[in-house]
Amino acid sequence: MIRARPPVRVPLADALGLALSEDVVAPLSLPVFDNSAMDGYAVRAEDTAEASPERPVVLPVAEDIPAGRTDVLTLQPATAHRIMTGAPVPAGATAIVPVEATDGGEQSVQIRQHSQAGKHIRRAGEDVAAGTTVLREGQVVTPAALGLAAALGLAELPVFPRQRVLVISTGSELVAPGTPLQPGQIYESNSVMLAAAVREAGAEVIATPTAGDDVAQFSAVLDRYGKDADLIITSGGVSAGAYEVVKDAFGRDGDQGVEFVKVAMQPGMPQGVGRVAGTPIVTLPGNPVSALVSFEVFLRPALRRAMGLPDVQRPHRSAVLTESLTSPRGKRQFRRAIYDPVAGEVTSYGPPASHHLRWLASANGLLDIPEDVVEVSAGTELQVWDLT
Ligand code: AMP
Ligand code: MG
Repeated sequence: MIRARPPVRVPLADALGLALSEDVVAPLSLPVFDNSAMDGYAVRAEDTAEASPERPVVLPVAEDIPAGRTDVLTLQPATAHRIMTGAPVPAGATAIVPVEATDGGEQSVQIRQHSQAGKHIRRAGEDVAAGTTVLREGQVVTPAALGLAAALGLAELPVFPRQRVLVISTGSELVAPGTPLQPGQIYESNSVMLAAAVREAGAEVIATPTAGDDVAQFSAVLDRYGKDADLIITSGGVSAGAYEVVKDAFGRDGDQGVEFVKVAMQPGMPQGVGRVAGTPIVTLPGNPVSALVSFEVFLRPALRRAMGLPDVQRPHRSAVLTESLTSPRGKRQFRRAIYDPVAGEVTSYGPPASHHLRWLASANGLLDIPEDVVEVSAGTELQVWDLT
C-alpha cells in the first residue's frame, strides 16, 4: 500500500541509515598515492644496508615532506627526505626508516637500522583499486560507509529516501504537555510516541498536529499537511462511540476511501485503512498502547519495506514462558513482556489492557499469543518480538 519514493542522490550526511539504490563504484584508488605509514625518513633501502646501532649510516636530509605537500619530489641516491605519516613518498625512495630508528636529525640523519625495500610504505590502491564496487545496492549506509564514500571523493550517495509521514492525533480532551490541565483533559501522548516510532523505523515526520473531535478541524489539518505525505497516520476517533471524528470525517460505510474494520487482535482492534486524495492513510485506535502496538504490527514493516531497509520484521525469538497466562479466544494477543535472552525466558509485564502505557515503556518485548490459544501454562515456548 505504501509506495517507495524514487531514488535520489543525497549529501553524505543525510544518507546515514538509508538503503543504497545503486552499487557504488570507486572513482579512484585508495590510498590515492604511495604514502608513508610512519613519521621518519624516505630513503633508498640499499643506502641503509650497512646501518646498525653501533655504526649508523649518515645521510644528508635534502627535503622535508609534511602531509599535504603537493609538489612532486625525487629522492637522489645517498640522501634522505624527512617525511611524515600520510605524506607522498618521493620518486626514487624505496623504504621509510621510522624516526625511532634515527637521531631525528634535520640537516643530516643518523640511521641505525636497515630498512627493507617497501617497508612502511602504504601503496596506492592496496585498499581499493579504482573501478571496484565498494558498496552494494540495498546495503544500509553506516558511518564507515560514509567515511569510505568521502575518502573516495564522493559528496553524495544514491539512496531510497525516507518515507514522509504525517502523524495526526485526534481528541477534544487532549492538551500539549507543558500546558496546564483543566478537569477532564489529558496530555496528548500519541503524537510524540508515534513520531518517534516513525523515525526509529527510518522514516521522516512531516508534522504532528492535533485536531479536536470536530470534522471541520480534522479535515482542515488533513488539507494543510496531507499533500506532501507518503503516509498519513491518525490516532483516536475510530471506535464505536459517538464523536468518532475520523470515522465521521470519512463516513462509516467506506465510500470515501477509508474502510473501518475490526482486527482480531488485542490491543488494537478498531482500525481503518484507505487513501485520502491518493495518499495512503491508516487510522489507529486512540489508546496509547493500541496505537503503538498497531504501529509495530502494521506500519513499521510497511515503512521499512518501502524504504528498502532490512529487518522489516522485529526479530522473533522463541522463549519459555515463566508463568501461566490466559488470552482472549479468537484474538491474537500482544502482551508487553520482559524477555531474558540469556535464560531464553519471557514473562508478561503489566496488565493486557490498552491504556497501561507504563508497562510498555519498560518492556523489551511483545509476547505474541496466537488467536486460537486461550490458556498457556508456564514452561510453554512462545514467540517474542524483540523490541530492543
Ligand atoms: P478514542 O479512540 O479516540 O476513543 O480514544 C481512546 C482512548 O485513548 C481515550 O481514553 C482517549 O482519551 C485516549 N487517547 C486518544 N488519543 C490520545 C492521544 N493522542 N494521547 C493520549 N491519549 C489519547
Ligand atoms: Mg477520541
